[in-house]
Amino acid sequence: MQAAVGFSVSVSVSVCCNSKCSINASSPHPPLFIPIPSNFNSAFSKPLIIHTHSPKSNSYVVRAQNNHHQDNDDGFYMRKSVELARKGLGYTSPNPLVGCVIVKHGNIVGQGFHPKPGQPHAEVFALRDAGDLSENATAYVSLEPCNHFGRTPPCTEALIKAKIKKVVIGMVDPNPIVASKGVDRLRDAGIEVVVGVEEELCKSLNEAYIHHMLTGKPLLTLRYSLSVNGNLLDSLGNGVTDSGGYYSRLLQEYDAVILSSSLFRENLSANPVPTSKEPGANQPIRIIMHKDSGSSNPIPLVINEVTDKAIIFTNCRTATTPEEAQQGIEIVSMDQINLDVILDYCNRQGLCSVLLDVRGNFSEYEDLVKEGIKKKYINKFVTEVLPVWNGCTKNDPLLPLKNLDQGVKVENLRPMASAQSVVIEGYLNFE
Ligand SMILES: [Zn+2]
Repeated sequence: MQAAVGFSVSVSVSVCCNSKCSINASSPHPPLFIPIPSNFNSAFSKPLIIHTHSPKSNSYVVRAQNNHHQDNDDGFYMRKSVELARKGLGYTSPNPLVGCVIVKHGNIVGQGFHPKPGQPHAEVFALRDAGDLSENATAYVSLEPCNHFGRTPPCTEALIKAKIKKVVIGMVDPNPIVASKGVDRLRDAGIEVVVGVEEELCKSLNEAYIHHMLTGKPLLTLRYSLSVNGNLLDSLGNGVTDSGGYYSRLLQEYDAVILSSSLFRENLSANPVPTSKEPGANQPIRIIMHKDSGSSNPIPLVINEVTDKAIIFTNCRTATTPEEAQQGIEIVSMDQINLDVILDYCNRQGLCSVLLDVRGNFSEYEDLVKEGIKKKYINKFVTEVLPVWNGCTKNDPLLPLKNLDQGVKVENLRPMASAQSVVIEGYLNFE
């Protein structure tokens, strides 16, 4: 049974308005995270065309091209748009990541991406960049251009005004106030429109935004580490927290990360507050669960390091100390910490993606993971298998999960690159 939600905000100050506010405009392009073909990256810096010359051997021959592309090489320019869109990674929620390139006579004459809410959309930056060269050019946009007045004027009107001849769109916007209306508006204006180029790539780029738009809830991903012999580990692989490591990139990608306060209590020096090391990364909001078992169990002060990026959910009504109050940490007291309250908080903050990061004492996560399975909230998992074969522990912390009578279908299991461990990701399908 869920306890009465009835929580109260004891201290509430500086969690910023839309959570991920600032942007480093000069931040270098972050590494790609979504699994992609091995030729994908290089296709941007040195244009390549791939031919399957030898179907029998399934070998791929890669031929370098000069910088000049045919206007109809839609996939290439769409991938370029996605690459641009990724420059906004971690900054755009609740908006989507969008990139745009303007192409004329086989040359890119303008490019842009959406940097963060309140800023112009990708198309506007790309059209500005192209200037007069936009006339009779083709625009490639990873997501359908908007056709409504939000915080900025509609991009469809900007494209029409710039006399764009053709618009190639990666995917239709799942936002009901946009869906296909942008396409219709462009076609009504006499512009040729192509939809669905590199559609899967574009969908994968914005999986959190799409999920949030369709379900009204953030995308919830469960992350945990295992030994080779299948035991839960409270550790991460070598190098994964460094720049380029999968864990550092997850923290860059996700809007929020749920952690247990026990992570900091047990080994303060070994477990600093999880922070993405990607250059220019916007750090996620740290949602810290503090469970008081009755004995003295203060909230660790290490959390002070991230006061502007932390919120503490506690079941202890006397957990607040003057230190936290002074630091302006937001603390929410409730009878029982549960996902409904946490996800509702994330929604109100405009957060589209949440990482449930199992580190520290698993017993503190057990209820959330069970609830996430039971209520079908967990959409995705990331599992790191470390090069460890450990001895048996007295009580298997995973036993309560292994004993769940509910099975779940796993889909799209994929490996991710990691230096010395194996990382797999997949999706849970509760249908
Ligand atoms: Zn727009």
